[in-house]
Formats: sequence, C-alpha cells, structure tokens
Amino acid sequence: MEYEAVIGLEVHAQVHTRSKMFCACPVVEDTGDLPPNAYVCPVCTAMPGTLPVINRRAVELTLMTALALNCEIPPVSFFARKSYFYPDLPKGYQISQHGLPLGINGYLDIQTEAGPRRVRINNVHLEEDTGKLYHVGNVTLVDFNRAGVPLIEIVTEPDMRSAEEVREYAERLREILVYLGVNSGDMEKGVMRFEASVSVRPKGSDVLNPRHEIKNLNSFRALYRAVAYEIAHQIEVLESGGRVFQQTMGWDESRGATHVQRSKEYAEDYRYFPEPDLPPLEIGREWLEELRRGLPELPTARRARFVHEYGLSAYEADLLVADRAVADYYEAAVRLGTLSPKTVANWVIVDLFRVMKETGKGIAELPVSSQALVELIGLVEAGTVNLNTGREVLDEMAATGKSARQIVEEKGLAQISDEAALRAVVEQVLDENPDQVAQYLAGKEQVAGWLMGQVMRATGGKANPQVVRALLAEALSSRKQEAAGGLAK
Ligand code: ADP
Ligand code: MG
Ligand code: ZN
Repeated sequence: MEYEAVIGLEVHAQVHTRSKMFCACPVVEDTGDLPPNAYVCPVCTAMPGTLPVINRRAVELTLMTALALNCEIPPVSFFARKSYFYPDLPKGYQISQHGLPLGINGYLDIQTEAGPRRVRINNVHLEEDTGKLYHVGNVTLVDFNRAGVPLIEIVTEPDMRSAEEVREYAERLREILVYLGVNSGDMEKGVMRFEASVSVRPKGSDVLNPRHEIKNLNSFRALYRAVAYEIAHQIEVLESGGRVFQQTMGWDESRGATHVQRSKEYAEDYRYFPEPDLPPLEIGREWLEELRRGLPELPTARRARFVHEYGLSAYEADLLVADRAVADYYEAAVRLGTLSPKTVANWVIVDLFRVMKETGKGIAELPVSSQALVELIGLVEAGTVNLNTGREVLDEMAATGKSARQIVEEKGLAQISDEAALRAVVEQVLDENPDQVAQYLAGKEQVAGWLMGQVMRATGGKANPQVVRALLAEALSSRKQEAAGGLAK
C-alpha cells in the first residue's frame, strides 16, 4: 500500500515590540544570562486587581503578517481566555484569540518537488508568552521575564505532504516575518517555535486520520527530522496492523525519535471564552489600508523580479534576497547605474559575503556603503587595479572604512599595464629561471603558469595579468624559436 502524509503546522513567533503584550515591561532579548524576574510588573505576574492594556504595535505587526499571508481581516476581533494550569502561567489562563482572530483564510505558496503548492492558512492570531521554569535538583524555579511577551501564532490547514514541504513552508514564513520586521529570525534565541501535526493515510484518500502533534520544535532541522520520523513511524504502525491515536508528542533530538507526552487535548478542554477585561478590537479599515500600502515587496516576488529585471540566475537571486538588508544594498548599488547588475551580484555574492563571513559582520555593520563598493568595482573594471588587488582593497575598506581610491593611492596599488615596463620584468624573470624555461621549451607547458606567478610577484601583484600573459607568451615563443634556430645551426 502506498501512503501519503498529511501535515499541518502551528508556528509561534515572537513579535518584535519594545514592550510586552499587555503591560509596559520591556521585551529583552533572551541572552541566556539575564537576571531572572528583572523585567516584570504586577500585570505580567498577575497580581490581584491588575488589568491588561493591548499593545497597539503588536496588533499592527500581526495585521501586517496576516496581510502578507493573504488573510481576510475580520472587522472585529476578540481576545479569549485559554484556561489551563501551569506554574509559569501565573493567571491560570493565557490571553489568546479564538473564534475571531486578527487574520483568517490566508495562504502561502511554496515551491515543492511536484511544483508549486498552496498552503492554506487557517488563521493568524496574537497571544502572550508564558514564563520559564528551571528545574534545579528537586526544586523548580520560575522566571517571568518572558511572561507576557507578544507571540503571533500562524496555523495552517493540513496541506503539506512531506517533511521537505514543511521545512520549505517554515523557511519561507521565517523570511516573510523577518522582511516585515515582525521577528528577528534568530532561531538560536528561540524566537520561532514549531508544532507539527502529522497523520498518514492511503495515497489518494481524503480522510483525515488521527494525528500526532509534535511540540516544541525549535529549529528547521528538528522540524524536518521530527516530521520525517513521524511519517515513517506511523506507516510502520499501520503496516503492522496497529492504529495511530491522537496524541501529543515530544521530540528527542539526540535519539532522533518522538515519544508520547500525553493524550492530546481538545479545544473544549481549554474552556475558551471572550476575555472580559479587554474590549472587542475594531480594526479600522483606513488603518488596514495604510498597513497594506506600507507592506514591503515580499521575498518571493523580489526573487522573481531580480531574475527578470537584473538577469540573475534563480540561485543568485536566492542568495541576495534571503537577507533584506543585502537585497536593499544590492539594489542601491545597481541603481547607481554605472555597472551591470550581474557584475555587482558577483561582487556581493563572492566577495562581500566572504568579508562578512571573515569579519562576522552583517552588511549593515560593514563600513562599506553600496556607493563605495561600486567605486571599487569601477576601478577593477577600468583596469586601475587588477581583480586580486581589488579583493585586497575590499578587505582594507571593510577594516578601515576608507574609500577604494584612497587605499589604492596610499598604498600605490595601481595596476601596471605599461608594456615596456612589464616586458622588462618578464625578460628578467626568464633570465633568472633558466631551468624552468628549459622545462617549458622541452614541452612542459604548465611551467608557464609558474613563470606568470613569478612576474606577478616581482611586481608586488600589481601587474595587469592580461598584459603579462600576452607578454610572457610572446617572450617564450621567441625563446622557442631561438632554441630551434640554435639547433638548426
Ligand atoms: P487544535 O485544536 O489541536 O489546535 P486544530 O484544528 O487547530 O487543532 O489543528 C491544529 C493543526 O493540526 C493545524 O495545523 C491543522 O492543519 C493540523 N491538522 C488537523 N487535522 C490534521 C490531521 N488529520 N492530520 C495532520 N494535521 C492535521
Ligand atoms: Mg493547537
Ligand atoms: Zn509587566
């Protein structure tokens, strides 16, 4: 029997606001060593008599996400209490949304092996994060720094069919959130968490079988592996005559396997009801239109445009668009209009990426503006410096913030293209290396490359390689003729 997997994904993403969802406490980046309970107040620790106030910016960022995911935005939205007990949830309930969330009925198109696939989005809603528990020996400590931090939850329909598709969807979603400035995208800091629901069924069937919901997946790798594991595991269970029950699973990264945590809860278990401490949230249509107009071009559209407008390959467009700051930088450089888009792309992908990797700096932190890069490339194109020197100049620019011209002048790096001067160097190198010349004349042609290297070295790397190559070929061939003439005598 052939099976197919049915997968839905719930993504929790931290919303990049300055303050928490319902109080004025700051949202601080979880560096792992913050003093515990330093960013808390009576509201986010649920002291009696406190009341929540909605963070407008969190709503705005959620609406932008919902719009980017092609959602309908209901004119009125509600917050709801989701009741459950957990020691890091001081109110005994979480304020979330249920019934009428901020966004509904959206979709995200992804590329799959089988062609494009539309993953429908059931809803986009806003809620608050919980605190964090630390188990130390036989006591448990609680830290409320994270309690009340806004979280956006994005819930798909069960439209994905493989672990690859789930990973693709999650990566595209992350990209969108980062483009919108909703989320930092720093996966290591736990700013995005995934829960995947997985079931399998006979291929071609349209039943929805009971599913396993895998909780708390914090990386694309864990997401991919856990889903792939579950699919294989459930097929095995069915093949051996067993049944799959609706269950909540944990993922054990080191064993590479899921395990049962509990029988899965149902929505009714949470006793959802409209949050009485908050008013219904009316989403003004003018506000919404303003947000829609302000949306940036999204990565998928931008990639396609880079391919047709700038003549880049899909691969190059991918590399440039993945980071919005890089894409903006690239476009700013191209728009200066002096260079071909392909040339600029090469420099960014090959050289700037290398410098970013070596220095550990993002493009915004490097003191090399797009104008400065264009000036450097211009010097290389004009033959003022050769390619290798150009690359060294870029390193120097990144280290010092100086312009290419200034570095070339200060260090006397201008390329030597003068034929008479270079011919003299070539002759000198040939005279100083009679053994290598003899080898060349005896037919070992690769020695020419070594001789070329000697000439470059003798000029401090500044010689114009094209000119040197031509002069060297000329000089060697005249020595060959001399040698032949000598034998004939
Ligand atoms: P819950 O109340 O448990 O959150 P939902 O109906 O909201 O349940 O669905 C949660 C997730 O599970 C969604 O992403 C949905 O697409 C997915 N899902 C629902 N049914 C199935 C199924 N039979 N197989 C796989 N995924 C499913
Ligand atoms: Mg759920
Ligand atoms: Zn607070």
